[in-house]
Amino acid sequence: MRFVSTRMGAPAVGLGKAILKGAAPDGGLYLPETIPSADLASLRPDLDLPAFAARLLAPFFAGDALEPHLEALCAESLDFPVPLVAPLAERPGLRALELFHGPTGAFKDFGARFLIGGFERLGDRQRPITVLAATSGDTGGAVGGAAEGKVRTVILFPRGRVSPFQERQLTCWADPVTAVEVDGDFDDCQRLAKAALADPALASAHRLSSANSINVGRWLPQMAYLAAAAVKLFEETGIAPGLVIPTGNLGHGFAALYARAMGLPIGPIVLATNANRALSRWAETGLYSPLPSLATLANAMDVGAPSNFERLLHLPPEHRSASVERVEDEAIAARIVADRRRGHLWCPHSAVAAEAYERLDEGRKAERVWIAAATAHPFKFAEILEPLVGERIEAPPALRAIEDRPLRKVSIAPDLGELAALLCS
Ligand SMILES: *Cc1c(COP(=O)(O)O)cnc(C)c1O
Repeated sequence: MRFVSTRMGAPAVGLGKAILKGAAPDGGLYLPETIPSADLASLRPDLDLPAFAARLLAPFFAGDALEPHLEALCAESLDFPVPLVAPLAERPGLRALELFHGPTGAFKDFGARFLIGGFERLGDRQRPITVLAATSGDTGGAVGGAAEGKVRTVILFPRGRVSPFQERQLTCWADPVTAVEVDGDFDDCQRLAKAALADPALASAHRLSSANSINVGRWLPQMAYLAAAAVKLFEETGIAPGLVIPTGNLGHGFAALYARAMGLPIGPIVLATNANRALSRWAETGLYSPLPSLATLANAMDVGAPSNFERLLHLPPEHRSASVERVEDEAIAARIVADRRRGHLWCPHSAVAAEAYERLDEGRKAERVWIAAATAHPFKFAEILEPLVGERIEAPPALRAIEDRPLRKVSIAPDLGELAALLCS
């Protein structure tokens, strides 16, 4: 499979090259030249997730240097449990796909580990790769954890815009991982990463690549667990389940749309956002414009200008259909409190999806099972949740282990010169 740029101004490349480059040289994002059709007969619901993923992703790896590594990549990055649970007795048609049982407690563990595994196999000792990751919260932790001891990685995060626990999780990794606090917001971090990747001298001196959700290596494995859950429910109920995806940069949301475009049994898709309006305004008016990002309770989704939107527009119109539900902070808090009373505790991002589900009319709820992606462990947002629900939230073992690690970070202005100096040091 060849990958082309969304802006059509760069040569087509194979998967390994698309992963190494991160963004295309014309500033666009890589996408497969054609949408492969999923081989539904071989995607059996009883396969374990790594085996399912290897079959689903085989067309993207075909003919590439990474092809022989596909099974190992899936086995090492999709190796923790992904329970599909019925969280609320009162809502029997709702399932939560728990994506937070990995080493850093959020769904980004899947993509980060898959991607770093790819970099590890694509790099060579003479010319090591440097991975740049701009993060509004969970990406950096997941990428740092995946890269520690393996691949040189620089994590850019916005000062004061991540939770105390997230900051710990960003700054606790040993070499070759460096955490960099940027005096700006997430969009500044993302712009800085993009500017560095687009600077030919800098990019080639350090063999820069990105670990953001713009990297195809992040996006591919995210399709696998959504597809596997959909196939399982389709087998059980005979009806393609709906998906409610809490989304910010549209990485996860795009994965859902693409899996459906490949022919997986996925029904309607609801993109659930926090107060940031770029997507809901597009859904309401058909017009898209980037906006400054707003800080919300679901901070890993605080994105004013979702970079994967460009990928969505590249899909043929018949594959783009999704509704967008915007959930403001008051509604996030109210949903957390109400569902805690009904027996389930959501993280603020998962609560965005739960609230979007509640807002579906009863007819739509009744016509099929809906899967809400539960994207982070509630413990990661204990300082938001504990005052709301009035109880202490216990850390799961993986997250407890992080508490004992030493922390380190460096600080820079949102300035390419400062980042370049840091890369050379
Ligand atoms: C990153 C993240 C999201 C949003 O994912 P996108 O790929 O930006 O759409 C949602 N929830 C959590 C917990 C996250 O870390």
